[in-house]
Amino acid sequence: MTKERTIQGRGIDHIRLTSHAIEMPFNAPKINWFATQPSERGPVIGTISDKQQRNCIGSHGGSYTIYRALSIASGKYPANHKPDLHNTQPTDLIKPQPSWFEPGKIISLDPWGAHIVDAFGDYLEKGYNIQPSIAVTQAYLKLPEIYDAISKGRLHIDGKFINAAGDLKVTKVAIDPVWHLPSIAARIGLDEGSLRKILFRETGGMFPELVTRSDLKVLLPPIGSTTAYIFGDVSDLSNPDIELTCRVHDECNGSDVFGSDICTCRPYLTHGIEEAVRTAQKGGVGLVVYYRKEGRALGEVTKFLVYNARKRQLGGDSAATYFARTECVAGVQDARFQELMPDVLHYFGIRKIHNLHSMSNMKYDAITKSGIEVVNRLSIPDYLIPDDAQVEIEAKKAAGYFTRDTIRTGDALERIKGRDLDL
Ligand SMILES: [Zn+2]
Repeated sequence: MTKERTIQGRGIDHIRLTSHAIEMPFNAPKINWFATQPSERGPVIGTISDKQQRNCIGSHGGSYTIYRALSIASGKYPANHKPDLHNTQPTDLIKPQPSWFEPGKIISLDPWGAHIVDAFGDYLEKGYNIQPSIAVTQAYLKLPEIYDAISKGRLHIDGKFINAAGDLKVTKVAIDPVWHLPSIAARIGLDEGSLRKILFRETGGMFPELVTRSDLKVLLPPIGSTTAYIFGDVSDLSNPDIELTCRVHDECNGSDVFGSDICTCRPYLTHGIEEAVRTAQKGGVGLVVYYRKEGRALGEVTKFLVYNARKRQLGGDSAATYFARTECVAGVQDARFQELMPDVLHYFGIRKIHNLHSMSNMKYDAITKSGIEVVNRLSIPDYLIPDDAQVEIEAKKAAGYFTRDTIRTGDALERIKGRDLDL
């Protein structure tokens, strides 16, 4: 035995494909995805350390699966670690909702993901290694835009939702992706077998069980998670009589975190937060959901390539050619599949959104098609749009994104120009 093999999980000299029953037996606990009782539904077990218990494809942690593997490879991470879940339970109870059990309603997250200790305690006692895919905690947000809104009198300190320092009290819910493959296929309008083959092929053959183990219906995809920020009482989200203000926001690291001015993402995000808090102060509840779908789910490298293509094209960056440049580089204008987005809303039992802060028709259509009523749609106020982001916003309005403003076309659209690269 080499030195490496004495370190847990390192120096593996051979592997058996997980399609072999000896690696993933056929007698692990069954998952009946839409069952009403946890005992009947069964836990999702994707742990690697206890292979005999596994009943799904992939492993926990979304995109961090790969970092975990690297950490194990470096010898720093004990491969057989079993989480101690003592005191990790949610700070706010998210009660089971009828939507959890409605066939086809929630298919890209595990609604029992935060309830491991209470719902599957009997399995834990028997030694099953079940990991939560949802965690709920509380925090305060310190945001310069909110301090500004307070100083300008748009928001007021109430000691409840906004403390004396101007910080926002929030409940945060982190949600890892858990996919029920037959339902995902149905929502896309594809047969399950074809979906499994495409997922296998397009990831370079990452999970052989997609094609060899059709009995395993749940996939833990190695993609980004989702975070929900709730301002007010979590249980009010499911009450259609209580005013709900909501922003569903797709990640834009450059703007959201670094304040890059080529798009409206951070201003729209902080505006959504401001409106969510205002609604909470009026006795309603606010929700901002943050989806890790960078660059319209095409990624940041593609996004930056598109920026350059936009700014170097003949005539410079223009609202008239905004979407065409993305399509040239990426093959599509947008790779976000918004039909999975409302799952988070249904997890909270939302049936009615009084104020939806989004201009996207794809998001609006996905939300309403999933059975949630939307009363008001609200676009970003003009004063929040950076100069260089006029190209994006005017192009989106011209393409049919929601607005109450005048829509520019033809020459007027062409005249909306972005900054040159070297300025
Ligand atoms: Zn952006």
